[in-house]
Amino acid sequence: MNLTIDDAKILLKKHFGYEDFRSGQLEIISHILSGQDTLGIMPTGAGKSICYQIPAMLFNGVTIVISPLISLMKDQVDNLNQIGIPATFINSSLSSGQYVKTINNAYNGFYKIIYVAPERLNSERFLDLLQKIDVSMFAIDEAHCISRWGHDFRPSYMEIADVILNLPKRPIVTAFTATATVDVKNDIINLLHLSNPFVLTTGFDRKNLYFSVKSPENRKKFVIEYIQSHSDVSGIVYCLTRKSVDMLYDTLNKLSISVSKYHGGMTDKERNLSQEDFVYDRTSVMIATNAFGMGIDKSNIRYVIHYNMPRDLESYYQEAGRAGRDGDFSDCILLFSRADIVTNKLLIEQGSSERTHSIEIKKLNDMVDYCNTDKCLRKYILEYFGEMPSFSECNNCSNCDSEIEVTDITTDSQKIFSCIKRMHERFGLALVSDVLKGANSAKIRSLGFNNLSTYSIMKDYSKDTIKDLISFLISENYISTVGEQYPVLKLTSLANDVLFNQKKVFIKRKIEKLSDKNSKLIASTNYEDFDTDLFNILKDLRMSLSKDLGIPPFIIFADVSLKQMAKFYPTSSEEFLYIDGVGDYKLSKYGKVFLDVINKYLSMHNVKKADITLSSVESSDTSSVVYDNDQSYEHRLKEKSHKEDTKIVTYNLFMEGKTPDEISNIRGLTLNTVQNHLIACFENGLPIDLNNYIDMDAKDLVFDAFRKCGIEKLKPIKDALPSSISYFDIKYFLVCFKKEEEIF
Ligand code: ADP
Repeated sequence: MNLTIDDAKILLKKHFGYEDFRSGQLEIISHILSGQDTLGIMPTGAGKSICYQIPAMLFNGVTIVISPLISLMKDQVDNLNQIGIPATFINSSLSSGQYVKTINNAYNGFYKIIYVAPERLNSERFLDLLQKIDVSMFAIDEAHCISRWGHDFRPSYMEIADVILNLPKRPIVTAFTATATVDVKNDIINLLHLSNPFVLTTGFDRKNLYFSVKSPENRKKFVIEYIQSHSDVSGIVYCLTRKSVDMLYDTLNKLSISVSKYHGGMTDKERNLSQEDFVYDRTSVMIATNAFGMGIDKSNIRYVIHYNMPRDLESYYQEAGRAGRDGDFSDCILLFSRADIVTNKLLIEQGSSERTHSIEIKKLNDMVDYCNTDKCLRKYILEYFGEMPSFSECNNCSNCDSEIEVTDITTDSQKIFSCIKRMHERFGLALVSDVLKGANSAKIRSLGFNNLSTYSIMKDYSKDTIKDLISFLISENYISTVGEQYPVLKLTSLANDVLFNQKKVFIKRKIEKLSDKNSKLIASTNYEDFDTDLFNILKDLRMSLSKDLGIPPFIIFADVSLKQMAKFYPTSSEEFLYIDGVGDYKLSKYGKVFLDVINKYLSMHNVKKADITLSSVESSDTSSVVYDNDQSYEHRLKEKSHKEDTKIVTYNLFMEGKTPDEISNIRGLTLNTVQNHLIACFENGLPIDLNNYIDMDAKDLVFDAFRKCGIEKLKPIKDALPSSISYFDIKYFLVCFKKEEEIF
């Protein structure tokens, strides 16, 4: 059977409720459908899953998906089952009873997609299953795990090629990753034995993410204020250490902010519970170390704040990229303090081998450059990942929105240098800052530092600012740190030039042009541009359904779908289908409850449908509601292509043998609408046989009525005919009549 991208597009709408493929998806799916091995390299959130899920539905046999993340499998399978795709997972979380049942179901052809962890490839029982069922495709998710060059090498990925080799028939092999380096790519192709693969690397740009780097005087205060002003959305705050996670968590908790935490020092049970609270929207903020996030598919994370600078851009982009998977605007804020450079260096010294040390230091320097650069942040990231962006400014990051202010800090630097000198270059950052600040501590008194001329010479500065200045001087090589456990500050020759040779020191600061709360999220008109009251009501409804059904809210509908509902006020099944993320299955599952709420809301608030106009509903663009009384809602709803798509869905169901009544039930459309779709397909020349539903003997009578009453209005024709002849008959014969009379 020749499968085409049009077949795939129909499933995209039917199951996932999306109108169009995103860039990359189209090419990848076309190649997979043509039978070619494929490697897709796309950033987090780009939509890799659909690239194998849709072909899996079109192939005759079963698709085996190898995924390293057990925690993600259940969510993915729940999600697929929700939209009418028969899928399951087999991993160590199943009880032996569940395992046997799942294997039996798989033998009996119940599933189109089976997710397994790579370790399963060692199980005799599972290998036996693979021998006996028709495997059409192997899809390897997170394929970089096969490479030692990747950041999470999983030895069991090495088994995959052998298992495939021993299958009775070689399936198509596809692989997906977000890691773009050449070494990893080559490893994937070679170690998976991909045969003449189609390889596609999409751009790594995530346009809906607003990147910013900030150095607030008080980080904690910044985070609290940001979270409080975004209390209605979900976000993650990443910290470098467990200690900072606990500290921030306690602070926010005391302020009655609904918050979860996650780090390696908690028990598995505590971590799972905490993660679940966040995923199910029971808490809105997650404070975590980088241990959190790998298995998280939550699509409505609106911000990711890095409380500390991470150690490399790979980690940063992966963690920040967890924001905005649903395509809606989201903030990625990195709070940069130069003290983080010192902490990261220490972590690298402690953790890295001789082989990796210099690479890690180089990566850290690139990360620091990102924080210091005054050029476009997006461009910096993309170039780091090997792209050559065509723009020099994205106008969508904090640097493009900032002006640079250069300040002469020579005098402050001299104060710091002479203090270090007077302390005989034998002490670290904390004590030097305390002396400059003039702290009244026993240690300072016992060492006699309160008698130094530099004691309290910077008393007007906060201690954080002094530390920040010293860290700046370290990063610019005026000061070096010696020793690992208790690094001691020493002056370099550059510092001596400042002290004795009139060398000047300048620091660059970014001044944000935006006057608001430094958040694109709040500034964005997009975010405000829908009926927030209705949105909140719909969110509550989603939450109560989530509780009843035991599935995360975002699996029921993504935030973007709710925003579109709160903007376009769909009131019928047909209109509901125009919302992104609503396909036939979601319509039949949730259409009624959501439409009831929307209709009730409209009547209570006296909002008439005719008063609401939308200019267009573009995929993941929820911008601009326009008020216009001249056009009918129906007319305005969507471009023609969308309407044609919905007819095609009806057509396909009909061609699968469903009756118009069944289609009406499946799609939640009125019978009349389904009949109109079928007539339109017939009129457009699609091969369709309506003989079983049309009273063929009535042809002459109906034709006579057309000649007598004209064909402009159907009602007089209907009235002139016996009541057994339906509107469906009349519309059908009208097409025949026009064809015969050639009056189209
Ligand atoms: P990845 O695996 O690449 O990180 P996912 O497959 O999880 O990304 O997809 C991210 C989000 O994008 C999901 O919420 C998914 O439903 C959505 N998505 C995928 N393809 C499309 C599309 N063509 N149109 C709209 N949304 C899409």
